[in-house]
Amino acid sequence: EAERAAEIDYVFKIVVVGDSAVGKTQLLGRFTKDEFFFDSKSTIGVEFQTRTITLNRKRVKAQIWDTAGQERYRAVTSAYYRGALGAMLVYDITNRQTFDHVARWVEELRAHADKSTVVMLIGNKADLAARRAVSTEDAVEFAEEQGLFFSEASALSGENVESAFLRILEEIYGVVS
Ligand code: GDP
Repeated sequence: EAERAAEIDYVFKIVVVGDSAVGKTQLLGRFTKDEFFFDSKSTIGVEFQTRTITLNRKRVKAQIWDTAGQERYRAVTSAYYRGALGAMLVYDITNRQTFDHVARWVEELRAHADKSTVVMLIGNKADLAARRAVSTEDAVEFAEEQGLFFSEASALSGENVESAFLRILEEIYGVVS
């Protein structure tokens, strides 16, 4: 393990933000461990998980931080955002309110994160298309206005999760290299 750690070329910190219950923890678990847990978590406190991938022949460790419930208490602190090169801003396509709050999260990111932080908007729970409350067009328009990358995804089915994380990692790579 120590030998492998020495081979890491870059560590990219990515924070996951968005309203409570949109699926932030599940997206992170899907990308880092290819897992989905049907029982939801209840831990409080900032945590991160990692996954190392190869990008342009460099070993890149994605260190992905989860608010672990702190967003419920408006207690996401600037320490959470410090050093973040990327942010995944997640809403739930079946819950309009979580999309209406996205603008607030963008403000929060602009206030606490670095200007060069790459932000990707994720419409999660795409598997629940029958209960959709946010159109893809509305989200695309908002993302374009705000200069965010955008993808719908499903942590449950795994659809687009890998590609969304790889996209943000590639964009960060473009910023730092
Ligand atoms: P967080 O509070 O944003 O971290 O949300 P969680 O990851 O804890 O997920 C909240 C709830 O939504 C849980 O009951 C998950 O099982 C469920 N969930 C998360 N992602 C998906 C998804 O892609 N599809 C569906 N159908 N449910 C999901």
